[in-house]
Amino acid sequence: MLKVDDLHVWYELKRFGLGHAGYVRAVDGVSFELNAGEAMACVGESGCGKSSLMKTILRLNKPTKGTIDFKGINVGELDGLDLRDYRSKVGFIQQDPFGALAPFMTIQQILEEPLIINGFTNAAERQSKIETIMEEVKLTPVEEILPKFPHMLSGGQQQRVVIARAMILEPDLLVADEPVSMLDASVRVEILKLLRNLQEKHNLAVIYITHDLSTVRYFSEYIFVMYAGQIVEFAPIKSLLENPTHPYTQALLEASGDPDAKNALEYKEIPPGEPPSLVNPPSGCRFHPRCKFAIKGKCDVDMPKPMPVVDGSNMAITGNKHVAACWLVEEEWKERAGLTN
Ligand code: SF4
Repeated sequence: MLKVDDLHVWYELKRFGLGHAGYVRAVDGVSFELNAGEAMACVGESGCGKSSLMKTILRLNKPTKGTIDFKGINVGELDGLDLRDYRSKVGFIQQDPFGALAPFMTIQQILEEPLIINGFTNAAERQSKIETIMEEVKLTPVEEILPKFPHMLSGGQQQRVVIARAMILEPDLLVADEPVSMLDASVRVEILKLLRNLQEKHNLAVIYITHDLSTVRYFSEYIFVMYAGQIVEFAPIKSLLENPTHPYTQALLEASGDPDAKNALEYKEIPPGEPPSLVNPPSGCRFHPRCKFAIKGKCDVDMPKPMPVVDGSNMAITGNKHVAACWLVEEEWKERAGLTN
């Protein structure tokens, strides 16, 4: 359904009176594919590029280079009515439900607006769609909630309204940007379960963006980890949790405190330092200034390409498509093949 190929999103920097002053390379060569009915988690620290990636998939940004193919359509080329049509097929769930809902509109108006914009002229049909989706997201009793304003609802109910609005045009793809990070712990699991149910029922493709590795197991088939605008590890979720390979993934997993991260994590601490500048990213592996395994003369010079990860006990490739962009993976392959001293 969705194929992102070598996507770059760079923002131009301009200095007053001096003009062009470089680029912020927010997304720098990201590729992945997503099928109908699959959920993909995108994980990384603030500033790793995940929000820019999301905005570009929603076509709020234009790609600087590379392509986003959605069911055979080149999303970067869309404009006018074609762009509106594309956006009706991609639902967006924001992080902050209260900020995402217009405070002066009732829930009825909020849910009706996308239908009116997209040409549903029959009022009875609109009402039927609104009531159906409200039942689905468990916003009941419907007749009591529809006349309310967002501030009259709890945080969990507000997020259900956001989800209902994202679903009302029956999209094929949902982009969920940290959908539970601003909710109470007791509500989080319910909202994640609701999203999972909607995904299965409607055969939706979902991109779940988060900085919290502990929630992805409830929600995703696949996961990729981003650092400094690039994907450093990609794997089926079980494979990544059992065999986290990139040192940055290990650090994130350690920080999440996930009790089921079975692998003996070699990286027992959060690496010191901040994510690098995206204007002048480090040479070689972008993680090398923070990596305690960095190989001098290699990691700081050559950028690692994604390599298939080997299983812990033999030379089989781990999982389906588990890859990590780290020179240690290449070293592991060489060692197993007896190519090192
Ligand atoms: Fe660390 Fe080198 Fe792997 Fe980068 S390529 S994560 S610096 S070991």
